[in-house]
Amino acid sequence: MSGGIRFDRVSVAYGGTTVLDSLDLTVGPGEVMALLGPSGSGKTTALRAVAGFVRPLSGRVFLGDRDVTDLPPHRRGIGMVVQQYALFPHLRVDQNVAFGLKARKAPKREIPGRVAEALEMTGMAAYARRYPRELSGGQQQRVAIARALAIRPGVLLLDEPLSALDARLRSGMLTELARLHRELPDVSILYVTHDQVEALTLADRIAVMDRARLRDCGTPRELYRNPRTEFTASFVGDANLLPVTVGSGTVSLGGRDLKVATGRDTAPGSTATLCVRPHLVGLGEGPNTLRGTLAEVQWRGSAHRLYVDVTGHRVKADVRELRDPPAPGAEVTLHFAPEDAVLLAAGVTDD
Ligand code: ADP
Repeated sequence: MSGGIRFDRVSVAYGGTTVLDSLDLTVGPGEVMALLGPSGSGKTTALRAVAGFVRPLSGRVFLGDRDVTDLPPHRRGIGMVVQQYALFPHLRVDQNVAFGLKARKAPKREIPGRVAEALEMTGMAAYARRYPRELSGGQQQRVAIARALAIRPGVLLLDEPLSALDARLRSGMLTELARLHRELPDVSILYVTHDQVEALTLADRIAVMDRARLRDCGTPRELYRNPRTEFTASFVGDANLLPVTVGSGTVSLGGRDLKVATGRDTAPGSTATLCVRPHLVGLGEGPNTLRGTLAEVQWRGSAHRLYVDVTGHRVKADVRELRDPPAPGAEVTLHFAPEDAVLLAAGVTDD
């Protein structure tokens, strides 16, 4: 059987409210797909539809070429890890990891080896005989991952697996998850998160969700460099979104003509949104120059964030190595390169 996950027009509703609206999405064998979006956008619901914990109102879910829509969760061959580690407090680590194998009636003599293998993979072999309360949050989450891997799933579902951890642990676990994925190149991973850093770091592709709908899907680089919608532009990375009028070969921002290399579906005379990343806006003159008044300066360690009012629009610029930042109220000049700006058709998100 070939692997992977496929949503075929999957809709889910609770009490008449659609919380997942006709989702079409394919996660390839061995691919890591992040479902990224704000709280309540339907990410967990999509994941639970794959696990078998919610039943679609319509549409089908496939694992490989198998239609699993009507199968109970334990017959889907899926490993799942949720935010709260959900370990059994009265069972030792090794017993927790063995639990899923026993429930699935794995041959008894195979269980110790499979448990040891999963604990080894997650760096928890030395803790096999401890109880969950004797472990840190990060260690408990590793055990939960080991338990999910012990059944050798073709599909691993991770639902905000790092959100209960503090920032330092989270970053370590991100590295660990990336390593695990390299060790398990055939396992498809669906990873629910509202954290763009997690999605950008781990995912082969990101599916951007908003209000029950899939808004965008692409590699992290594609979505960052060439977002299709304003929602994606502002949710994947930080963005200046400036309203412009499209000319021929240029756009106009408050009467000033700017050159833009990349644009989609924008006809001359129409209004559109110009997306420029703050770190690609520099101080001083350049191919596209904006003049305005400095409203605020924030020092952010690696850069100064300048907020500049340009013809009624606030432009954000992250400037590195600025020894002597101008003071609020100063007239400043900003620039950006035509190839660093993306023109978005207005209203793509208004459906
Ligand atoms: P996300 O994971 O993006 O935060 P969810 O998929 O958890 O979003 O939820 C999507 C919407 O469905 C939310 O508005 C949520 O309140 C609603 N919802 C989720 N589960 C249930 C449920 N069991 N009963 C009723 N409404 C639910």
